[in-house]
Amino acid sequence: MSIQDNLHRIASNLPEGVTLVAVSKTKPVSDLLTAYQAGQRIFGENRIQEMTEKHAALPKDIQWHMIGHVQSNKVRHMIPYVALIHGVDSLKLLQEIDRQARRAQRTVDCLLQVHIAEEESKFGLSAAELDQLLQSAAFAAMENIRIRGLMGMATFTEDQGQVEKEFRSLKSIFDNTREKTGFPHFDILSMGMSGDYDIAIGCGSTMVRIGSLIFGER
Ligand SMILES: *Cc1c(COP(=O)(O)O)cnc(C)c1O
Repeated sequence: MSIQDNLHRIASNLPEGVTLVAVSKTKPVSDLLTAYQAGQRIFGENRIQEMTEKHAALPKDIQWHMIGHVQSNKVRHMIPYVALIHGVDSLKLLQEIDRQARRAQRTVDCLLQVHIAEEESKFGLSAAELDQLLQSAAFAAMENIRIRGLMGMATFTEDQGQVEKEFRSLKSIFDNTREKTGFPHFDILSMGMSGDYDIAIGCGSTMVRIGSLIFGER
């Protein structure tokens, strides 16, 4: 199957209100251009340097999403153009994004990453840490970031019941957070990848991050 066919098959089956992020990490610019020509405008990358190079090489109406773990010292390179940062999991990182966004005179949309998987290795805040961050004075003082919602990754397992349980828990944290904060733009729940996006959508995902099903194995 070609990239065009894969994209079309996935995109045409997504329910209304679910946004597709085409995860293009490690893939050559030519593959992204093929997807672009098939109509895709949102791409996800997990390394700032690679994303910045691809941004320079490709059409400027692409929305670039940073989906990987972000190091504070590299934030400034993507601030001029990044559309959404998915993996924010500390106050310190959020403060650096805010500081660089202020310098660039823009507001940067961010998702806070919540740890829902059983595995220790996955990044993210606990529900308690999320609350603490959102209630802190330091958070209230930031003017150049906008929290658009939450992101999470389920455990990598064959056990669909486990995956569903984790996505449901993130959806419930999302609903509670939206209610507690009352943020007007808190409307993105980023969950679901190639192997589990249908389960994620069933649990209320509004944004799926799909790589290998579109571009092939990495
Ligand atoms: C690589 C990656 C994806 C996409 O994974 P696939 O299994 O190829 O769809 C989604 N989210 C994050 C955070 C990733 O790093």
